[in-house]
Amino acid sequence: MLGYLDYAATTPMRLEAVDAMVPFLSEQFANPSGAHALAREARRALDNARLTLAETLGAEPGEIVFTSGGTESDNLAVLGQLDRHGGVAVCSAIEHHAVLDAVQARGGRLIAVDAGGVLELDDLAAMVTRDTSIVSVMLANNEIGTVQPLRDVVQIVRERAPDALVHTDAVQAFSWLDVAALANAVDLISISAHKFGGPKGAGVLVVRPRAQIAARQLGGGQERGLRSGTHNVAAVVAMAAAARLTVDERAGLVSSIGAQRDRLVDGLVRSVPGLHVTAPDAPKTAGICHVCFEGIESEELLFVLEKQGLFASAASSCSSGAQQASHVLAAIGVEPVLARGSLRLSLGFATTPADIDLALQVIPGAVERLRAFASPRVMP
Ligand code: PLP
Repeated sequence: MLGYLDYAATTPMRLEAVDAMVPFLSEQFANPSGAHALAREARRALDNARLTLAETLGAEPGEIVFTSGGTESDNLAVLGQLDRHGGVAVCSAIEHHAVLDAVQARGGRLIAVDAGGVLELDDLAAMVTRDTSIVSVMLANNEIGTVQPLRDVVQIVRERAPDALVHTDAVQAFSWLDVAALANAVDLISISAHKFGGPKGAGVLVVRPRAQIAARQLGGGQERGLRSGTHNVAAVVAMAAAARLTVDERAGLVSSIGAQRDRLVDGLVRSVPGLHVTAPDAPKTAGICHVCFEGIESEELLFVLEKQGLFASAASSCSSGAQQASHVLAAIGVEPVLARGSLRLSLGFATTPADIDLALQVIPGAVERLRAFASPRVMP
């Protein structure tokens, strides 16, 4: 039996999304920027996908910019604003590296979070000054699932720096939260198709009219000059199909998957001593179970779990696949020694009760064995 509990890293594609993309990989292969009939056909598909994505994001079709995914959308938002208007970028201390590294590369400021990972609004108010040109706060965190009070963020930013833009990385939120409603006052919104049943390498940045940002990729002038490059029509069409299903099924999945997640957390708490549920009281998305185990190393645990058919991760996955110390756990004050034993189990639309059963069956024994084998620490 195999169990995949790493949906926050990536999801399988929805079969409807696969079906939607296939014709655009074969007979409907034309470049939508062309002038002939085949090109017009591809452009129609692109336009329809744009309409669907606009609707699911609470945006106008003309506000949708197709990108290669979450990283590009985040970079375009933050760096595009700084390149056009200068000023200082501010973001939460627990942003994904796609935002965090862009902000830090330009000497930006970080906003503290509390022990649950929720933004300290007083600190936000202190950080946002007249020189601030963009504030980026993710709607839901990719490691621990904490949801941020985005409306409060927008209100504070508008009061303190009326010309600043607010960006939200909604990459992990889109599967679980009504992004259209929660981010309706935000200027820039990032999503990524492979986190909600679409293909890898496709995403959207919503750019509202008041956000006059600079392009980062120059060339043929696609996407109203904001993102040049021949469109990946197949991926965009599949992303739209996945977005439609995600929004239509969202409420049902939040309740059914949320119940499975709670069963997982409760079961682990009952069966594993020395387990700490991360940010237990914070508002969270339905798909994330994040815990830390005393006395073990995540990498060893993941290895043992994989041997038993359970696939999960520790911190967020990074390009090298290596485990890095989590800046998110550090920001919420988890002791480094405990953070070394972190485990993120993330659920999604195709998670079954059998996946949860497997996790509850194998994790307690794996933790116990690793603790038993742990060599006594040698004092220097
Ligand atoms: N933002 C968040 C919150 C993420 O979780 C991820 C992916 O893990 C990204 C951005 C990057 O998205 P992509 O993999 O599409 O570049």
